[in-house]
Amino acid sequence: MPQLSTRITSLNEGGSDGWEVFYRARAMVAAGRPVTQLTIGEHDIGTDPTILDAMHAAALAGHTGYAMVPGTTALREAIAARVTARTGIDTARENVVVTAGGQAGLFATHMAVCAPGDTALYIDPYYATYPGTIRGASARAVAIETDAADGFLPDPDRIDRIARETGARSLLLNTPNNPTGAIYPPETLQAIARVAQARDLWVISDEVYDTQVWEGTHLSPRALPGMAERTLVIGSMSKSHAMTGSRVGWIVGPRSAVAALIDLSTATTYGVAGFIQDAAAFALAQGEAPEQAVAEPFRRRRARVLDALARQDLVRAIPSQGAMYLMLDIRATGLSGRDFAESLLDAHGIAVMPGESFGRSAAGHVRVALTVEDSRLVEAVNTLCGFAARRAEAA
Ligand code: PMP
Repeated sequence: MPQLSTRITSLNEGGSDGWEVFYRARAMVAAGRPVTQLTIGEHDIGTDPTILDAMHAAALAGHTGYAMVPGTTALREAIAARVTARTGIDTARENVVVTAGGQAGLFATHMAVCAPGDTALYIDPYYATYPGTIRGASARAVAIETDAADGFLPDPDRIDRIARETGARSLLLNTPNNPTGAIYPPETLQAIARVAQARDLWVISDEVYDTQVWEGTHLSPRALPGMAERTLVIGSMSKSHAMTGSRVGWIVGPRSAVAALIDLSTATTYGVAGFIQDAAAFALAQGEAPEQAVAEPFRRRRARVLDALARQDLVRAIPSQGAMYLMLDIRATGLSGRDFAESLLDAHGIAVMPGESFGRSAAGHVRVALTVEDSRLVEAVNTLCGFAARRAEAA
């Protein structure tokens, strides 16, 4: 076989993609073993039947051919209206391109702003696909580490220093954050915005969890003064409407950047299925109530898990304000996040993500997705704490 390109062979830098525990848990389920899956951000409900009805009706009405590459007018306008209402920044259809989920938006935005070899910054801990996505766009992925002691909030001075040293082109932010659940406070975002302007960075703002806010408020960096012209916002229907499998999301940004991104869509995905876009437009037209209904179980479960954790002091939850996960500090066991997750899966059939899958900063932590029914989740967390206590004693 002729050689593959280094662009693709170096996606995971020769290492792992970080999903081993998830894959192993999935294989155990396939082999008929009982596993409590607390790994990936997949809702335990399906897409609402009314959205599926809209999808079905759209398909029957003939929306099964090539859809408009930038997105249908109806969906782009619905997204623009949503963004205008939430941020106060005037956003028109021409500021929006529909993408095959947030993931395609992450790739397209890095392709758009980084020439081959340019440096793209991202904050560690990070959503596991980030470094591979950046490398896939032929950019150099440089992580900016954070500290558990600061709730994993990024330090604007550190961003400034690394941006200066590397001559970076872009900075990828994610608030509300996966995996930490942090929502960046306005002061942090304002300071980062000043750095972005001083260092002439594009900010790629991954806001796919903007409907999962448990404390405080979500602020889009695009809404800060001087930022609309250098910010590309990634949005998605996956988390807000339990539409992960539909693969529909968007990028919002300056008109000329969006025009270029539409050319990229023509060259890559050639758009998103019309019946999916019609279903997404229908879903957005229902307003915030259904989004809150989708988010509600995570809010409730988070509170219940925090109650369960409060009954012991070995496993500590990282203070978080949003998203469907909790990050737990298990360093008192003396185990790495990876060893903890692997042995918890073997001993108790409970699958959690090792912190190390999300970067160096999250070593010694595990991420728990709040994606199973309440009592089963609390039982799993209690089992996890008991397991941690035994491992700490044995250490
Ligand atoms: N960003 C973050 C932070 C995520 O957690 C995810 C999915 N888990 C995505 C982007 C991509 O989501 P999708 O492609 O389904 O929109």
